[in-house]
Parts: sequence; C-alpha cells; structure tokens
Amino acid sequence: MPVRDLRAISSDERLEADFCIVGSGPAGAAIALELARTKAKVLLVESGGLKRDAATDALNEIENVGRPRVMDQWLVRNRMLGGTSNTWAGRCAAFDDIDYESRDWVPHSGWPFKADELTPYLSRSASRLGLVANIGHMSRSFWNPARERGSKPGIDERLLSSCLWQFSRDASNRNVSVNFAESLSSSEADNLDVILNATVTHVNANQAGTAVESIDVRGLDGEARKISSRCIVLSAGGIENARLLLASNSVHSCGLGNQRNLVGRFLMDHLKGTIGSFDPRKAQALRSWFGQYFIKGPIGNHRTLRGLRLNPEYQRAENLLNGAVFTEEYEFIAPDDPWIAMKRLLRGKPRALRDAVNVGSNLHLVGQGLFQYLVEKSSLPRKLEKLELRCIVEQRPDPASRVTLSTRTDRFGVPLSRIDWKVNEQEQRTIKAIATLMKTEFERLQIEPLLLEGWITENQNLPEYFQDIAHPTGTTRMSADPASGVVDAHCQVHGVHGLFIAGSSVFPTSGHANPTQMIVALAIRLADTLKSRIVNSQAA
Ligand SMILES: Cc1cc2nc3c(=O)[nH]c(=O)nc-3n(C[C@H](O)[C@H](O)[C@H](O)COP(=O)(O)OP(=O)(O)OC[C@H]3O[C@@H](n4cnc5c(N)ncnc54)[C@H](O)[C@@H]3O)c2cc1C
Repeated sequence: MPVRDLRAISSDERLEADFCIVGSGPAGAAIALELARTKAKVLLVESGGLKRDAATDALNEIENVGRPRVMDQWLVRNRMLGGTSNTWAGRCAAFDDIDYESRDWVPHSGWPFKADELTPYLSRSASRLGLVANIGHMSRSFWNPARERGSKPGIDERLLSSCLWQFSRDASNRNVSVNFAESLSSSEADNLDVILNATVTHVNANQAGTAVESIDVRGLDGEARKISSRCIVLSAGGIENARLLLASNSVHSCGLGNQRNLVGRFLMDHLKGTIGSFDPRKAQALRSWFGQYFIKGPIGNHRTLRGLRLNPEYQRAENLLNGAVFTEEYEFIAPDDPWIAMKRLLRGKPRALRDAVNVGSNLHLVGQGLFQYLVEKSSLPRKLEKLELRCIVEQRPDPASRVTLSTRTDRFGVPLSRIDWKVNEQEQRTIKAIATLMKTEFERLQIEPLLLEGWITENQNLPEYFQDIAHPTGTTRMSADPASGVVDAHCQVHGVHGLFIAGSSVFPTSGHANPTQMIVALAIRLADTLKSRIVNSQAA
C-alpha cells in the first residue's frame, strides 16, 4: 500500500478517489482496511506523519470554556498515522442492550436501531482489535477457559451484575494493544493510498450544499491542494469531526450539515474516577467480583478485567444512567512486591539480599500466584499499597454541552474548537448511587468493607479531577429523524449526499463501555454500506 507525504506529491498529479477517508485512527483505518482489494480507489488522508511532530500537535489546540479538561491534547488524542491507537490502553467492551433504548428518564436517548443490528459487526471488530470474538462473561465460552470460577452467589443481581472488559492484543507483540498505524502499514492492498501530513481544512459541497465534491488539504509546508471525491468519510475524532463540519461554511455560513444547529452539541465523555478503597491486603478476597483473568484466544492468552455494572432494571427504577465499577491494581504495586523481586533475582540483577527477603516474607502471595497463574489462568496477586474502587459512568446527552468555533485560528486559518463541556446532576447521582450500593451490598454480605471517598459521604459535588478521558462522543449524533441528529442510521450526514461520519461523534448516547470497539464495529458496518455502493454503481 503506497504511503506518501503530501509534500512529495507533484502539483501536476490530480488527487481524486472513489472514497476519501479523513483520519487514520481506529475508525478511518478500519474502513480503509475493509475496502482493501475492492475495485474502488481509496485515499486515506492523515493530518499527521509517521512520528509525533510539534507543529502538527498544535493543530489540536482547544479553547476551553466549560468544565476543566485535560489541556495537554497529546494525552487525549494523537495526530499521526494510526491516530490515538498509538497511545490507547486497549480496553474494549460492547454496549449493553439498554444503551440503545430510548429511555424516558434520559432525554435525547435512543439509537435508530437495536443492539442486534451491531452484533455481527462487533464480532468482526474482534479480529481488527486483537480480541476473542463472542465471549460473554456469564457464558461457558468465558468460564471454561477461566476454569469455571464464576462469580460467587451473593451480590443482589437485581442491583448489580457482573461485567467484563477485554484488552486488545497485538498479534505481532510489538505493542501491547493493536496500533492501527501498523495494521495499515502491513496492508498490501494496491487500491489504498495513504497521504500523510495532509490536514483537511474544508469540506466542499455543491452549490446547494446537498452533495460533497472535494476537500481542501494543507501540507506541513502550508501548500494547499484539493482532493476530489463524491464520497467522503470524516473519521477525524470526536472533536475534529464537528470542528470540520462547522468550519466548512462556504455554502452555509452555519457549516455543513448544520441547518438544524445540532453539529457540535451533545458533547459527552465518560466520568471515570475513584469512589472508594479497600484494604489492599484483602485484594484476594475480592477476586470473585474484581480482578484480571486470561482466556485463550487465536493469538495466545488474552487479558480480561472483571467488574460490576448497574442492573438495567435498577437504572429504570431509579432514573439512573449506566455505569460500572472495577478495581485498579497496577498503579499501586508496593515496592516490596515479591513478583518484582523474583523477576530481578531471575535476571541476576543486584539487590539480591533485599529481593530474597521480599520473596521470603510474602510466600503466601507466591503460592497463591502460582495456583492462580497456572491453574486458574488469572493474574498474579500483587502486593499493593492501595486498592481503589473506580467507576466509569455514562453522561446524559445535553445539547448545551458543546463544541463551537473559537475566534482564534490554527496556522492554516481554521478556527480552534471552543469546548463547553458540561457535567449534570444525573451523572453525579448515578456515581453516588453506585458507590452507596456497593457499600451496602458488601456490608450486607460481610465482605471486605468499602471506604467511600469523602465527597460521596459528605454529598459534595463531583471533584474537578473527574476530567475528560479521551472519549469525546455525540457531537455529530445519529438519528432517524433529521430534526434530532446530524447523521442518519447509515452515518451519512442528513441532507448531504456522499458525506459520511465515523467515530464516537455519531453515538447518540455513550453507555459506560470504552468507545473503541463500538467505533470499529460501526466503521465496519459503514464500510459494508460503501461496498454496496460500488456494487450498485457497477450494476448501473
Ligand atoms: C491514553 C489513552 C488511552 C485510551 N484508552 C482507551 C481504551 O482503553 N479503550 C478505548 O476504547 N479507548 C481508549 N482510548 C480512546 C481511543 O483511543 C479512541 O476511542 C479512538 O482512538 C478513537 O478513534 P478515531 O479513529 O475515532 O479517532 P482518533 O484515533 O483520534 O483518530 C483521528 C485521526 O484523524 C486525524 N485527523 C484529525 N483531524 C484531521 C484533519 N483535519 N485532517 C486529516 N486528519 C485529521 C488525526 O491525526 C488522527 O489520526 C484512549 C485514548 C487515550 C488518549
């Protein structure tokens, strides 16, 4: 697959394609790879290069006017080949059935289709993401490999039920998780062409604004080029998709696809943070509810993480949003953890005496670890300094939480994103409800006591350390009715023929699941829609 820098392409060369994809993160890369070896000419246009670059990073700058956000944009999105899959953590999950529903206690909720529609695409996303397909935490396909150690009865299933995240695994073992830069680079399809250091600055439509025709791009040196295509997919990320539509204002001053003033609205992220802690010496006693397990997949052992989620019926009864809890162990491993000491001893590194003492004084953990690792296929029990219980909670779609354009511009003259991100009472109530449920359930069952965070026991507002976590969602939401969304159920912008959007910006609601598996599943579905266009155009 040819990968070229825009600067190296002669100005005489006419740039055109059947499908032009903007952005090479998981969304854009998945579509390009699905279109590989078709009869269509596919151009993937990427703002970044093969390596991180300060001038390109600066194009992601934002103006923040709402709730505090992480201001170092590299920590939340990467402008380079492969997009943010260069630094993502690889944690994957699909949405729950309730996430697709129109819930009367969650205004603006409801997807234009049900969960079943995405089932085949979630299965297909597994191979792109290095996951084992179709494992459910309650099914034998999970518990057989995990040696049937299902959750002990006890937790009231009407309130909380078991849930599972799987971690992406890179088959080449060069990275921990799949990096789409490598997936693209290893493709040998000659109908795909990747152009790097090509930043899209404007999407051009016909005079009526009803169909796309081309995009304007700028190279690193500022050179302006045009790429013609009657089918353009914006997959530039949850903030940039909205920014590009708003900035494409040559036909309609409000931007492309924005006659209903919906582009950029309904910005959501996930609220993730600590809600309490357990005695770190009791981590083993909590393994029936939390912890890591390995299951055998096509490319070796795959890491999974268990947690608990709010039961849908309880969400319904209490007007809550969706949310889940899990424990985070790896951030708090004690300096005298016996496994670190053992690794050093095996490698013949110094500190032998101190390491031997650390192993000797934690023999119970070593014995347990060997059993867990060899028999149970779960992770090693680490000696911890702290054991935090964390939550990840959905946000409700709020039209006032939004991306608009700043009066400041980037070096190509494109206005920066002005972000007014809001957190609502319903999210805070959901977090407090999960925390209280966990505490009372663990007390009732006389399991390890959970010490709740002060802001929860004192019923204070969400602390400011609950910031965005790199999951910008909802800014070009999907809807069957053009009056309530930006794209239709096939991700085509309402009223703009040939302009499609991929990524979490099309999610009408955010669920509690990390977004990338859903992004890739929807991208594969969109690629199928585009493929059917090739077939239809050949038949015509
Ligand atoms: C530290 C970290 C950890 C994460 N961990 C997880 C996790 O465990 N699980 C999970 O599900 N998600 C995780 N995420 C989020 C995940 O990375 C994103 O959901 C995913 O990358 C989004 O894919 P995307 O293709 O929509 O956007 P991106 O990956 O952001 O890709 C967008 C691409 O578009 C390009 N682009 C932008 N503007 C333009 C333009 N004007 N012209 C041309 N190209 C443009 C960018 O350079 C980029 O390559 C994490 C993110 C971070 C930062």
